[in-house]
Amino acid sequence: MPANYLHIWPRGEFMMIALPNQDASWTVTLFMPFSKFKNLDTEEKLIAFFEKYFPDSIPLIGKDKLVEDFFAGSASPLVAIKCRPYHVEDKALLIGDAAHAVVPFYGQGMNAGFEDCSLLDELFQKHNDNLAAILNEFSDTRWEDTFAISDLAMYNYIEMRDLVTRPSYRLRKAMDDFIFWLLPNFWVPLYNSVTFSTMPYSRCIKNREWQDKVLKKTWSFIGVAALIGGAVALKFKHFV
Ligand SMILES: Cc1cc2nc3c(=O)[nH]c(=O)nc-3n(C[C@H](O)[C@H](O)[C@H](O)COP(=O)(O)OP(=O)(O)OC[C@H]3O[C@@H](n4cnc5c(N)ncnc54)[C@H](O)[C@@H]3O)c2cc1C
Repeated sequence: MPANYLHIWPRGEFMMIALPNQDASWTVTLFMPFSKFKNLDTEEKLIAFFEKYFPDSIPLIGKDKLVEDFFAGSASPLVAIKCRPYHVEDKALLIGDAAHAVVPFYGQGMNAGFEDCSLLDELFQKHNDNLAAILNEFSDTRWEDTFAISDLAMYNYIEMRDLVTRPSYRLRKAMDDFIFWLLPNFWVPLYNSVTFSTMPYSRCIKNREWQDKVLKKTWSFIGVAALIGGAVALKFKHFV
């Protein structure tokens, strides 16, 4: 497998991913419902499952290592927290995962925690160290973006395990990439806006909704123009 890439085995309801480590090894994780993990309770069932869904991974991991690692641990739940307010008067404030843990599929949990720190820093300047005002404004303004990244992270699980295999997704991605290449300051695809920009998460979602509308209108226009063009062409053919 090529190094320095995230590899995904999307399988609809579940997926396996391999994250590259610095020593050129891989950390492989299987994300799927607990009911499916429960069925894999013997070595034979585990190997049969991998032969059916991830056959190419078996020689890479090794059968013995696969069995040993799989049964050495147990499946753990993923946690997402949406809560507000984050503070109590001027006495306490929750930031980072304690305030807004998200599922790990956008790789943004730590970044969201860092963003809490930059916002707090701005608020300390704005309110001249008045803690009550700082914490109050933090709670009032931060939730919109932390709720947004929670939704985005949940959505990315569906995209990674399922949507990436669909032609409609690939077509949309190709269009996004093309327009981004053509107009990089005007059209920033969702993933790029979340991962490679400082655009607030809630604005990333609004930006994507706007792009969806633009593309829908463009396709409707192209469809109507093609229909009219077809009708005119037929009429002319009739007269010839
Ligand atoms: C599989 C996975 C992949 C991830 N990948 C990414 C990624 O690619 N990019 C990204 O940005 N984020 C990623 N994250 C998320 C990121 O790891 C977390 O968002 C980040 O670590 C949260 O930092 P934190 O300081 O808020 O909380 P934590 O890292 O949980 O730190 C809290 C600390 O408090 C300590 N503690 C708890 N209770 C007490 C107590 N009572 N007394 C004293 N200490 C206590 C804990 O031991 C811990 O050390 C990933 C998470 C997971 C699970």
